Amino acid sequence: LNRRLAEFGTTIFAEMSALALSTGSINLGQGFPDTDGPEEVREAAVRALRDGRGNQYPPGPGVPALRAAISAHQERRYGLSYDVDTEVLVTAGATEAIAATLLALLEPGDEVIALEPYYDSYAACIAMAGGTRVPVTLRPHEGSFRLDLDELRDAVTDRTRLLLINTPHNPTGTVLTRAELAAVAELAVERDLLVVTDEVYEHLVFDDAEHLPLAGFPGMRERTVTIGSAGKTFSFTGWKVGWATGSRELVTAVRSAKQFLTYVSSGPFQYAVAEALALPDTYFETLRADMRAKRDVLAAGLAEAGFEVFRPAGTYFITTDIRPLGESDGFAFCRALPERAGVVAIPNAVFYDHREAGAPFVRFAFCKRTDVLQAATDRLLQLR
Ligand code: PMP
Ligand code: GLN
Repeated sequence: LNRRLAEFGTTIFAEMSALALSTGSINLGQGFPDTDGPEEVREAAVRALRDGRGNQYPPGPGVPALRAAISAHQERRYGLSYDVDTEVLVTAGATEAIAATLLALLEPGDEVIALEPYYDSYAACIAMAGGTRVPVTLRPHEGSFRLDLDELRDAVTDRTRLLLINTPHNPTGTVLTRAELAAVAELAVERDLLVVTDEVYEHLVFDDAEHLPLAGFPGMRERTVTIGSAGKTFSFTGWKVGWATGSRELVTAVRSAKQFLTYVSSGPFQYAVAEALALPDTYFETLRADMRAKRDVLAAGLAEAGFEVFRPAGTYFITTDIRPLGESDGFAFCRALPERAGVVAIPNAVFYDHREAGAPFVRFAFCKRTDVLQAATDRLLQLR
């Protein structure tokens, strides 16, 4: 393994899912739903396979039906218009969109500011692109993890090339507010930075929280690559259909990298996701209501078991603080948890450069059936 990748090893998700299997634990670690997405969308994939749509290499930017559906979705929900032929790119999941974007836009030595804790592929992709990551830490404040805008501003240097933003935020569940996003946008314009915004949890926001795309703020459309994924919104994480939208110039650059990573993405699933994106609003509302109910079940159970719970405004993850349980090392806690309680969780420290800042935090996923969440919280009561 080369020096750029040596520090990364096996992803925590693979390690923890393997641990769940080998110990027979309930897996609240890796974020994937235990119930597949809509039947009609699965049928759409089967129809595409049967009809021979997408069984051979689809077009590089993605099949026209899906690009049109992505463009229509951004327009319908956010009033953002993207040209179907030049400003939309279909990728192999958001993961490839992130990789291709960073590989396309970074010069070696460029600095990338990312919100810490950050999704693990960011660090590896910045490294593969020869960039330098500059984490800005979200800190607990009155029940949620917040961005310190002064710290963000201070992190920008002459070498900063781009801001890598994620809202709703994995693993903290923070949804950046309009005021926070406006400040991020102003900074990007003032310092002439590119912005990559990972919005894969755009449909998973709860209560009063609202997802606002960064690309919609003044001066942002031309400097922002927005990343989305069917995995989260339609509960098909195995399909690996994601996308990037942005200006023609930026999307053309991302496409240049994508063509040498995967060339194209899986054909028949693209047709199915095109149909999924056109589902009526009730689908998205039901998804959100179901997920909010699951959040409440898990949050209550975790609090009862003695964790401090950071109630998420978005995503399908809950970050907890384990110190009220008399613990302080999330890694050790998560490695022992299968034996102690038959549950698997993720230590947030893996998402930090400042490992000590993340040490006492542990993430649980709630995209699981309610009976599974209840069984998990029953088991966790043993920790008290
Ligand atoms: N970004 C974030 C913040 C995520 O949590 C995930 C999770 N899977 C991804 C990107 C990757 O998405 P995909 O599965 O579509 O590659
Ligand atoms: N995004 C999911 C998570 O954060 C899983 C991603 C993965 O396994 N690579 O848990």
